[in-house]
Amino acid sequence: MHPFTETSRVVTWLTPANGRINTLLKGALRPKSAFLGQVDLFYTCELLYYAKLTDGLPIARECTALNARTALREDWRACAVASYLCSLLARAIPEKASRQDIFDWLNAALDDAAIHGGSIPVLCWQELHLLKTLGLAPRLATCRECGGGPDEPNVPFSIAEGSWRCSRCRAGTATPNAIGIAASLLEKLSGWMSVSSPMVARTTRLSFEQRTALGRFAGLFLAHHLDISPAPRAAALDILSRRPPRPVDQNVALR
Ligand SMILES: [Zn+2]
Repeated sequence: MHPFTETSRVVTWLTPANGRINTLLKGALRPKSAFLGQVDLFYTCELLYYAKLTDGLPIARECTALNARTALREDWRACAVASYLCSLLARAIPEKASRQDIFDWLNAALDDAAIHGGSIPVLCWQELHLLKTLGLAPRLATCRECGGGPDEPNVPFSIAEGSWRCSRCRAGTATPNAIGIAASLLEKLSGWMSVSSPMVARTTRLSFEQRTALGRFAGLFLAHHLDISPAPRAAALDILSRRPPRPVDQNVALR
């Protein structure tokens, strides 16, 4: 959301039928506006708007909050995940690309953050499942040539090709643009891809090295295939990795 005039604001929405759209909420900042309390970040709303453009934007006529996800205003970790995923989606899909499955993904991801909170493994699970929804999922479980499992402790994974080859199929040839991933982590991640709830990312035990490798792998893969800036992701990971947990607004240096 951003201000448009002194009393109006522009709101960017993800809709199931018309994809990502911007609307003008006239008078939304007036004290008695009908929009007050009905629209805010991470809300799911019923929106009625005129398709005809004014100042280059459709005008919102009515808005009713259906799911306010109030927990996202109290849990700063969950808020960091929700903010990042919304910004990721805003940059990953073109305007007006109509996709019910992407809408469903964001709806479920925001619900999950509001109910269960946020963490780095959950953020990575959500990223991998967005890639899957976009048809860009990495091939994790098996060698892309022979279909066999990993035959060495570390697999050279090609970020550009989204897959890997076992040592027999490589037969001494190098894999360009590859990063090494532990076979044990590959196995865990391929299990993650096959389940439709991020609960698995909360219950999987990951060592510090595995968490670091997971964050790096998902980040490199996203940056390559969605061609997006790494800065919002780095900010979200920074917030989620604070130990002991310390809200940003209680950090004296940031006041
Ligand atoms: Zn092979």
